[in-house]
Amino acid sequence: MWLSKLHPIGKINYPPRLVATTFCFFMSWQFLGTNLITIEYSWIIILCLLWPNIAVLLTYRSNNAKKQERINIHVDALLSTIFVFAVPIFSFASTIFIIVVANALFVGAFRLLSTVLLSIIVLSLSLMFAFPSIQLHEEQFKTVLSSSIFMLIYLSSFAVSVYYLTKRLINLNKHVKTLSITDPLTKCFNRLYFDNNLSKEIQRANRFKSPLTVVFADLDHFKNINDQHGHQAGDQVLIEFVQLVNRCIRTDIDWIARYGGEEFVIVLPSTSAKTGAIAAERIRKYVDEHEFSVNNNTLHLSCSFGVSEIDFENEQSDIQRLTSCADKALYVAKQKGRNRVEIFS
Ligand code: GH3
Ligand code: MG
Ligand code: MG
Repeated sequence: MWLSKLHPIGKINYPPRLVATTFCFFMSWQFLGTNLITIEYSWIIILCLLWPNIAVLLTYRSNNAKKQERINIHVDALLSTIFVFAVPIFSFASTIFIIVVANALFVGAFRLLSTVLLSIIVLSLSLMFAFPSIQLHEEQFKTVLSSSIFMLIYLSSFAVSVYYLTKRLINLNKHVKTLSITDPLTKCFNRLYFDNNLSKEIQRANRFKSPLTVVFADLDHFKNINDQHGHQAGDQVLIEFVQLVNRCIRTDIDWIARYGGEEFVIVLPSTSAKTGAIAAERIRKYVDEHEFSVNNNTLHLSCSFGVSEIDFENEQSDIQRLTSCADKALYVAKQKGRNRVEIFS
């Protein structure tokens, strides 16, 4: 539906605007034919009822929805001022004024409020000049009651809009956060997450005096897979590799991140290098025996691993040292013929 494509700012303003113009309509209706309002104003009433739909259509069609909605807020303010002059009752005027100010602040903070107020002042002065006989009319119980009921409905519709906007914002925030720490291809954690989270793992391990091991994993002769089967096949293998590793490690404790290209790092909290090497060997065997299915072909692949445990005795034991030790061990594994696990010594 076209409403789903509408900019959120247009969607958020539609219900409160509809409530506000309906209120203006009923307030005017009460006084239509009385000495307060003449039949000439009836076209304004019709415009008021049409205005929310015209506004939402303008926002929908505009290339710059935010700018259009700012213009709409000014039109709201000008129409409201005309209504206040048409029905000059204090409770009506103050209610409308509060709503215009709140809406301007909601959509464009103080900058929008300043231009909205300026528009209201200019129009009010012009109307006062054009109709010098206009005076505030006596307050009646029904006008106070109508204004209070309207205020309640309006603020409720506003609050509901804000509630859904906030909910949407929270969900979007979660989504953005997930995207920022996820590797788009393999869906495991990315380098950013690794860099930020490993230091937390080190601190935690240090606090509880428990071991922490990282395993660097690099696919062997991966370039050949790209060369022989194409880049897409290579991508498919990377995705499948991460799935295999995830099946071999402890859920919610161990985690894998893409370090770069076809190189991954597996973090094993509360695990010594010796136990980490056993886990790495299990993954190595699993990958080695696995048949990767790519382009209706099956292919075999191996992986080399470098294992390193954090050394709390060493003062310089930090992320750099831990990763460089695991990387050195991985280099040794490659040197010794690949498809093997090496522990940094
Ligand atoms: P080695 O056993 O020494 O690790 O050999 P290798 O071929 O795996 O290593 P090399 O560093 O020579 O090549 C890595 C290749 O990985 C080259 C690069 O094009 C490929 N690669 C890196 N990232 C991606 C990716 O996201 N998708 C695909 N398909 N290939 C990638
Ligand atoms: Mg490689
Ligand atoms: Mg590599």
